[in-house]
Amino acid sequence: MVENWPDIFGDKDEGFGKAQFLSEAEWRTYLKRAPVRYPRRNRVPDPICEVCGKPASDSNPLTLAHRIPFVNGVRYFALTPDFLDEEHNTAWAHKSGCNKTLKMGFEKSLQRLRQLSIKTLPAFLPRTVLDAWR
Ligand SMILES: [Zn+2]
Repeated sequence: MVENWPDIFGDKDEGFGKAQFLSEAEWRTYLKRAPVRYPRRNRVPDPICEVCGKPASDSNPLTLAHRIPFVNGVRYFALTPDFLDEEHNTAWAHKSGCNKTLKMGFEKSLQRLRQLSIKTLPAFLPRTVLDAWR
């Protein structure tokens, strides 16, 4: 016999709504344990790789790659997992080789945030990050 859980929370995550940044409390929680990524949810794969323009192959399938890396985007910039999984931050690329090409480093990620018209980063972020943002 299976005991049922009371239906309180539904079967979907609450999500972060339209928020780009985590609250300080949310951010501190994710520093203890990294969030889970769900970039493929509701996404139809593109037929070709965004990096090399070639189709997937059996030996090298296309995967959904993050431009601003998912875990570092949360840790360094307090970006919400939802924001990082959005289409503007992801692209289909070959699992081997091309995927790495899309992944941005620290400085490039900061540039990308500026391109996305982000004006300020949360004041609770580490000094190193806030200094680099100026
Ligand atoms: Zn490719």
